[in-house]
Amino acid sequence: MSMIGQVYVKKGQYKIKGDFHHLELGQPIRLAEEDWRLIGITNPRQLTHMHSYGGEAPFFENLSKGKLMATRCDNPKCETAGSIYQPFRIHCPDCLSKNTVIDMTDLAKKTAKVHTFMVCERSGAFNLLDKPIKFINIEFDGVVTILFSYLAVGEPEIGMRVVPIFQKLDPTYTILDMAWVPQGTKENRLPKGFSF
Ligand SMILES: [Zn+2]
Repeated sequence: MSMIGQVYVKKGQYKIKGDFHHLELGQPIRLAEEDWRLIGITNPRQLTHMHSYGGEAPFFENLSKGKLMATRCDNPKCETAGSIYQPFRIHCPDCLSKNTVIDMTDLAKKTAKVHTFMVCERSGAFNLLDKPIKFINIEFDGVVTILFSYLAVGEPEIGMRVVPIFQKLDPTYTILDMAWVPQGTKENRLPKGFSF
């Protein structure tokens, strides 16, 4: 019986448990022009990649708690001190000092609006979102950058007020735990597991 690979870190070391390799039988590769003689075999491989979030970990941890975290440069010597970054930037792009993590959930709820948008009828490989995908660029009062996300309910319009929703019921700990809906959307219209 195989067990899905699980990882935690203790005293600076990765501790792993379960299966990180899965033995699967392959299929023969044959040559059509030479009477389908055997020339090789496929080797199926399923990988479990350990992806470290590093300094971005607070962003993903807090999505699962219904909070949107941003960062701010608090270096008094920086020309752009006080700038708030969303998406979450670990370091200030101007002075390269480490930014302060701040909670901007209320700011997002009160001021988020669609800067621009695009609707995609098709998507790239491994996409998990329902199509068509309504990608939106979101601006916030007092934030110097624009966040790229998607509208989960309704149709996007430039300037439309939107509010964040979060996957708190069954979090994935990825960017999929956050989406946006038009201001005033009723809770019962949100996708499964999402709430304000
Ligand atoms: Zn700075």
